[in-house]
Amino acid sequence: MTAPQQIRVRFAPSPTGYLHIGSARTALFNWLYARRMGGAFILRIEDTDAVRSTETSYEAILDALQWLGLDWDEGPLIGGPYGPYVQSARQVLYHNEVQKLIERGKAYRCFCTPGELQEMRSDATERGLPPRYDGRCRNLPGDEVERRVMQKAANVIRFRMPAGKTRVYDLIRGAIPFDNVELDDFVLIKSDGKPTYNFAAVVDDAKMKITHVIRGDDHLSNTPKQVMIYKALDYPLPKFAHLPMILGSDKTRLSKRHGAASVQEFRRIGYLRDGLVNYLALLGWAFDDKTEFFTRENLIKKFSLKRVGKNPAAFDPDKLNHIDGEHFKKLSLMEKVVLVFDRLQEHDVFPSDFNVSEWSIAELNDRERASVIERKETNNSHYRDELPRLAIIIKVMGNRLKNLKDAPNMLAYYFKDEYPVDHRAYEEHLSNANTAEHLKALAGELWELETFDRSTIEKVARGLAEKRGISAAAIIHPCRVALTGKSVSPDIFSVIHLLGKEKTVQRLGAAVDHIVGLPKK
Ligand code: GLU
Repeated sequence: MTAPQQIRVRFAPSPTGYLHIGSARTALFNWLYARRMGGAFILRIEDTDAVRSTETSYEAILDALQWLGLDWDEGPLIGGPYGPYVQSARQVLYHNEVQKLIERGKAYRCFCTPGELQEMRSDATERGLPPRYDGRCRNLPGDEVERRVMQKAANVIRFRMPAGKTRVYDLIRGAIPFDNVELDDFVLIKSDGKPTYNFAAVVDDAKMKITHVIRGDDHLSNTPKQVMIYKALDYPLPKFAHLPMILGSDKTRLSKRHGAASVQEFRRIGYLRDGLVNYLALLGWAFDDKTEFFTRENLIKKFSLKRVGKNPAAFDPDKLNHIDGEHFKKLSLMEKVVLVFDRLQEHDVFPSDFNVSEWSIAELNDRERASVIERKETNNSHYRDELPRLAIIIKVMGNRLKNLKDAPNMLAYYFKDEYPVDHRAYEEHLSNANTAEHLKALAGELWELETFDRSTIEKVARGLAEKRGISAAAIIHPCRVALTGKSVSPDIFSVIHLLGKEKTVQRLGAAVDHIVGLPKK
């Protein structure tokens, strides 16, 4: 008995831009399939378009895949038994293979000029036919071809498409028939000597022993041409699976026009890699009709090509936010602290100019405290100084902080004097002369406090409301807007505690000045 064939799949991006979300989905499905089946995931760079390919894109694509955690088993940086894994380094191979096709009479040189080709196209269009190469170089005598090659006449190498039909079998869509007439004598090698995508992809897929070609359905029309090349070169045919396209909100193919479209952009916005991977997995695949949350391990366990649909998948930013939030919610406090710290630093929310010396870590439980203390050993002094306070802030924020991406906006008021302000909340809560009096009194009492902890602060605020014969809310709401710029925040006494005496009194004073400065009604 022979051992079962190892599953080998590949992701084959062209380095002509950032990693688009559609391509990332293709990479993910290949990766999941390989991991599910105990197979190999191969990364191949298709850089035959020398004009559009750039080193920057190459690096950006690798970087995005690494960030997503889609590690490859063979490919750039790590090599492998079937390398090189960059097409520009495989030229000789394509030339050898095309030579075989010419010798077998399955490919031929074509010397038609761009002008002649243009004429053919307009001719066909005039006659109401699809534009097509008319085959005029198909049967040039051998010595004539040789003579022209010797004269260095520009030429391409075309595939000699036989008459008949080609059937593509797709794992997702079933059998799809194509009429060879539609396929044309397409080009294998361009006049600059470079292979076309269709030719290089087939040669590489065969030489790299790819068993399953999983890619976007925008390549479906290429597949019959590729199948013909496999047959002509006696390569074993892989299985094909074409993934449904991803649509933007207006039902057209997702692109830059719809906003963020690359993995890098989503990363910059602050999505979690596991949130994005989970969301991408749901673009075209579903485990059942309800489960949305998947860890990476679960995706690997549950993924199958059988459950990939044919219908286009709609990109839904709200669902992405929701799933991203579910992943954020599942993180431990310390995992959140680490991520939020980096994010705040990237957004210049640090360094904090606040005096944090009053900070104790008493509000954390034993495990959290141990974790903070352990991490305080770091050499990064900002990290060391901010860590306890940040841990408590995140704990106090609780589920109000739904996504990592919202951290800079939502937490800025703890660290900086410039933070986003909701002007409607100002109008609603900070426009009344009595409020100014209450806040002034509160600032005065807080200033006098010797113990500045949450319960003392609460006692003072509630006591003040009682003395003044007003509800506690009449102090709490304006105080919240004055300190945070927002009408929602965690428990205000914790916020006051976290801000510290000086900042609290200073912001209350600024709110009083704001009210006093308003034009009289
Ligand atoms: N280089 C092609 C692309 O980026 C790969 C298509 C394929 O997977 O065959 O679209």
